[in-house]
Amino acid sequence: MKLDVDGVLFALRAAAEKMGDFTPEFDIEVMAHANFDLDFELERGKEISLEELDTDNGLLSVQGRQVLLYIPDQWDIAKTLADPKNGSRFHVADCSTLNDMKARKRFERYKVTNNLSGVFDIYGTDRATGRSVESESELKVCQNCLKLLNYKGFSTARDRSIFNNFSIEEFFSTYSSLFSHLPKHNKYLQGGGYSDDWKVVSDRQRTAANYTCTECRVDLSDHKSLVHVHHNNGNKRDNRPENLKVVCADCHKKEPNHEHMHVKYSDIQIIKQFRRNQGLDHVGNWDEAFALADTAVHGLLKYCQRGNRTVPEIGYEVTNSQGAVIAELEIAWPEEKKGIFIDAEAAQNARSMGWHLYSLGQAMKSFQ
Ligand SMILES: [Zn+2]
Ligand SMILES: [Zn+2]
Ligand SMILES: [Zn+2]
Repeated sequence: MKLDVDGVLFALRAAAEKMGDFTPEFDIEVMAHANFDLDFELERGKEISLEELDTDNGLLSVQGRQVLLYIPDQWDIAKTLADPKNGSRFHVADCSTLNDMKARKRFERYKVTNNLSGVFDIYGTDRATGRSVESESELKVCQNCLKLLNYKGFSTARDRSIFNNFSIEEFFSTYSSLFSHLPKHNKYLQGGGYSDDWKVVSDRQRTAANYTCTECRVDLSDHKSLVHVHHNNGNKRDNRPENLKVVCADCHKKEPNHEHMHVKYSDIQIIKQFRRNQGLDHVGNWDEAFALADTAVHGLLKYCQRGNRTVPEIGYEVTNSQGAVIAELEIAWPEEKKGIFIDAEAAQNARSMGWHLYSLGQAMKSFQ
């Protein structure tokens, strides 16, 4: 299946222009790695062996695209259709169940997808009648995955509602900065719901606020595309000034019900860099740590908080004796020379200076 690449790009740009409060950049790096055939397959569900799956950072991905993994073949499809809780679970992390399956070399027809709908194509035998059935079901998420990631505090808060109300869209948004490619069917990119004068209104608000985030105070006048305007009541047509709030992309993503928002890792890094240069990166307590940290590391921070660790630095730069930056860490305890990295290459240099560094995936596994 070949797709019309120019046509797809044109449609994406048109959608982006309509949105106004956020201008995604179709940069050369992303275009160089574009693979519309793969994206098309992932959207529908692509068959894969467990070995082909990337498990960096403890999450699941294929060629830079975050995915979830499921087994379409149901042991007793009638039971699954009666209640999805009886069906096979889909996986979102490199959990103990997945590792078991790998170790036992279990042969299954695994599929991966980045479709956010939560509806899965399934098949299987109806044990009562012996007939083969094909259907669809809203399968449930694997709890070992939630446990490993301490997703929304699943392990530390022991709150069942995190499992019962699990949303794939919100999950993908939480970790979006860790992946180079974002899921295609993203409500935010469809850009509906804004008033026709939104671009004018949003520019006026952003100018009045001097392109400064009203949450974390970062001044982004040198990088205006990362300044958004948020609607407090969620109604994108209600442009009364009291309903609008100027925020940076990172703070915007942390607003309630913003699971549709995906922000690139490189954009988060830019915001962090501006915060550092403006002296806004010092963390005095856990609330500030959560506010500054990427949502991808919130599960880990919750483990640290419960374990009574000292509050870490967020977005820490390791420098050498000449003062040059040699590594960037997501979370760091500089006195102990300990830290968590996402970019493995960057971390290598700091190790030679006596730092003890862990990937996000390693850290999650050790806490569990
Ligand atoms: Zn799992
Ligand atoms: Zn902010
Ligand atoms: Zn918003």
